Amino acid sequence: MQKTEKIWFDGKFVPWDEAQVHVLTHTLHYGVGVFEGIRCYTCADSQSAVFRLAEHVERLFLSARINEMVIPHSQEAICQAIVETLKVNRLAEGYIRPLTFIGAGVMGVNPADNPIQTIIAAWPWGAYLGAEALEKGIRVKTSTFTRHHVNVMMTKAKTCGNYVNSVLAKREALADGYNEALMLDAEGYVSEATGENVFIVRNGVIKTPPLGSILAGITREAIMILAGDLGYEVVEERFTRDELYCADEAFFSGTAAEVTPIREVDRRAIGQGSRGPVTKAVQEAYFKVLRGENPKYGKWLTRYSI
Ligand code: PMP
Repeated sequence: MQKTEKIWFDGKFVPWDEAQVHVLTHTLHYGVGVFEGIRCYTCADSQSAVFRLAEHVERLFLSARINEMVIPHSQEAICQAIVETLKVNRLAEGYIRPLTFIGAGVMGVNPADNPIQTIIAAWPWGAYLGAEALEKGIRVKTSTFTRHHVNVMMTKAKTCGNYVNSVLAKREALADGYNEALMLDAEGYVSEATGENVFIVRNGVIKTPPLGSILAGITREAIMILAGDLGYEVVEERFTRDELYCADEAFFSGTAAEVTPIREVDRRAIGQGSRGPVTKAVQEAYFKVLRGENPKYGKWLTRYSI
């Protein structure tokens, strides 16, 4: 990965290599930490913008609430710190990773009064699944790992420990020669991928799983709104893997993956086995918003210059 100069650490900027924690950091042992993934882009007017900053920071705080962690900063302060981190590092375009974790103190499962610490790192990061994937689409395999049951892990929180399931599934998919894992929920319905929400298109109707076992993706919500603007019917409804096999098109959405077409699932071509026209239209609409080319969604952009 490409390092930047500084990381925001509990209110202070520290050099990248000095942003360190004690080995008895509670989160390192038990996984109760919360994080966000946010992107910023260079816009058409050569200024930069963070996409849906307030929504991401709000989700960070909701994730913390679910995990009974009290972040000792306001949401406004974290938003401001994120923009400062981009400016200090002169990062016009890239990925932002805020993380709130339980620091060192007692070592039992109950963290008692251990400090709640926060870092914000940012670095350049191109297309998560590869630049070619955005155009050609990716190959996906249904995972042998089941997505979290809603009463085992709290799926609305972006909790560090939730991602053990994602790491297992991702590594399995890659080792088997695929680009990403498709995860089914505990009842066998299509849920999401390791770090993306999923959509299918059939006869011009766009379908995505409802907010059950999935993370409430901020990109997912944006896509639903933009697809509606384009005149497509969008429904939130459970579907099975065989319904996905029969789709005309399918794609993933996520901050890191943006809008990535799915060209194959479990060795079956989806539609024509390439990016479909609806996926392309949605993708273009999404990138227009990110680049500040759709004034209607200027409200989703936090502008800054470096
Ligand atoms: N599901 C999971 C499990 C994720 O990790 C992510 C990435 N945050 C998403 C969906 C997509 O969410 P968003 O669009 O908010 O990045």
